[in-house]
Amino acid sequence: EVMTGIAARHGFSYESIQFNPFAHLQILKKKTFKKPTDLIGSTPLVELTQFDLPADVRLFAKLEMYNLGGSVKDRLGQNLVETGIQQGLIQNEVVEATAGNTGIGLALACQKYDLKLKVFVPEKFSVEKQEIMRALGAEIIHTDSSLGMVEARRQAKDYADKTGAYYANQFETADNPASYDSLYQELKNELGSIQMIVAGAGSAGTFTGLAERMKPEGTRTVIVEPEGSILNGGPSGSHRTEGIGVEVWPPFLKHDLIDSIETISDDDAFHMVKELAAKEGLLVGSSSGAAMAAALHQAKHVQGNIVVIFPDASDRYISQQIFKSKGEL
Ligand code: PMP
Repeated sequence: EVMTGIAARHGFSYESIQFNPFAHLQILKKKTFKKPTDLIGSTPLVELTQFDLPADVRLFAKLEMYNLGGSVKDRLGQNLVETGIQQGLIQNEVVEATAGNTGIGLALACQKYDLKLKVFVPEKFSVEKQEIMRALGAEIIHTDSSLGMVEARRQAKDYADKTGAYYANQFETADNPASYDSLYQELKNELGSIQMIVAGAGSAGTFTGLAERMKPEGTRTVIVEPEGSILNGGPSGSHRTEGIGVEVWPPFLKHDLIDSIETISDDDAFHMVKELAAKEGLLVGSSSGAAMAAALHQAKHVQGNIVVIFPDASDRYISQQIFKSKGEL
């Protein structure tokens, strides 16, 4: 079943390869694809060796920047649109509230299926992501940043109610965590056994999708938020770390899926971005910096493989001064 899914995503049938014991290598080596959206998923996993870790720990980063639209949320955009189409719920327009990466993922899917996309974006979020959404055909409506994502969500729902556009509703739909089954399968195929998973929470879809599958297997689950996010009981407030941070407890996030919640300051997240660039040559976004800081705090709790999800890359945050952190390396 896993191989059928992977084969289908890469444009050939499992039947054509199933008697080949090296089929999985054939898929990994495939470099020619039928269409750009086939480049969503099957992202690389890389071991990080330049940080101090306990001797019995190996740390791997899942580089979601290698998705077509440059982030983990391409998986979500694809799944929400395809599920909506299958259920006959989409006429000709999709609407969503987003910090940007979901909008990019949805824009790719809408382009593929010839649908219109309208996104409600708090105006403080990075201009790079907004430009990319526009280039892919999305219409952007700015909402008041001081009212947070809650206001963007209210306006998106309102627009859907008035016009009949399909509200993708990443913050509430169970189709969100389900979008990350492919991510889980890829990690399992690569590593087999995983002792700890570390993922940031914006909608908490990535974390929930992974934790639902991994917690029953005994994997320690760590969810990461910036200061100003409410998961650890702190007050809601603004933060510079983009893509993560929760204002309202996500309906699909079950307490018993979480072993630990790490709350990381903007300074620590941004500092880690610079450190990852300097030590590993990895250019990641601020939510990846936060996840890496959390993973290093948590490494002492396990022996074996740690996987950290790096949702996107630095270059969409140049305008947010991503490489300017307090403190020297
Ligand atoms: N990091 C970045 C850069 C993101 O854009 C997002 C999604 N907003 C996340 C992390 C968190 O993903 P999720 O919504 O699945 O919690």
